[in-house]
Amino acid sequence: MTPDQRKQALDEVAAEVAVCTLCPLHKGRTKAVPGDGHPESEVVFVGEGPGYNEDREGRPFVGQAGGLLNELLKAIGWRREEVYITNVVKCRPPGNRDPEPSEIAACAPYLKRQLEVLDPAVIVTLGRHSLQTFMPGARISAVHGTTAAANPETGARDATTYAMYHPAAALRQGSLKETMLTDMCGLPEVLLESRQRRGVPVAEPVAEHLPEPVVVAAPLDESAPTPEPFMEMAPASDAQPTPEPIVEDVDVVLETAAVVSTAPSSTEPQLELFG
Ligand code: URA
Ligand code: SF4
Repeated sequence: MTPDQRKQALDEVAAEVAVCTLCPLHKGRTKAVPGDGHPESEVVFVGEGPGYNEDREGRPFVGQAGGLLNELLKAIGWRREEVYITNVVKCRPPGNRDPEPSEIAACAPYLKRQLEVLDPAVIVTLGRHSLQTFMPGARISAVHGTTAAANPETGARDATTYAMYHPAAALRQGSLKETMLTDMCGLPEVLLESRQRRGVPVAEPVAEHLPEPVVVAAPLDESAPTPEPFMEMAPASDAQPTPEPIVEDVDVVLETAAVVSTAPSSTEPQLELFG
């Protein structure tokens, strides 16, 4: 599938979701939230369902939980525009209640189609409901930070699933923040391994687009040899303000993730490096 075809196929899913009435959640929605991110991304995050802010904006993870997710991504040198983010249900459950199994089942064909199109190397499940879709029967407290092969029936042809807590859980229970950070710091390695399994060569910088690796984040292990760059990051705009500290506890981040080099050079994300 070409990038254009991918984008078009995702847009088609989004257009159907926007007018879907397959389950009762459509009644309370302001906007459906199909998902967003980069169509060529190798990594797809799957959350639970839209909350108040997502329902208003039509985009996933734009509220407080999204803020934490962004911080966690920054900790490994990734940006949310470079991954794909969606949910098991695309319309907001009233009062942010848990989605019903029947609602998740009704919405599942959309997620399946998204995964068929995206063909991710890694699916990150955020929270219990997403976990049940990809690792049925698993308990989040037992499997967070671990991987399993995705069942191709999910739509993901050849993906590794990686279980994480939901950011909202970490907002309620502060101690989970550090757990989530630790788990997030394992994600680049999970991507590398999945790429190797899939036989995808590590993306090389494309000379005319990206003269040098911009940001390469790696788990900090001083005794280990320098790893290959595994994800070339989009340069930040020169005009952008200095980024906010990554998470409140910057020391924790510095212990667990290392930004090897930064060279902001242009405004446009260098997204053709993906996939
Ligand atoms: N929580 C989710 O599970 N998904 C969102 O999009 C936002 C909050
Ligand atoms: Fe349709 Fe999914 Fe929204 Fe239910 S949650 S109405 S199945 S898009």
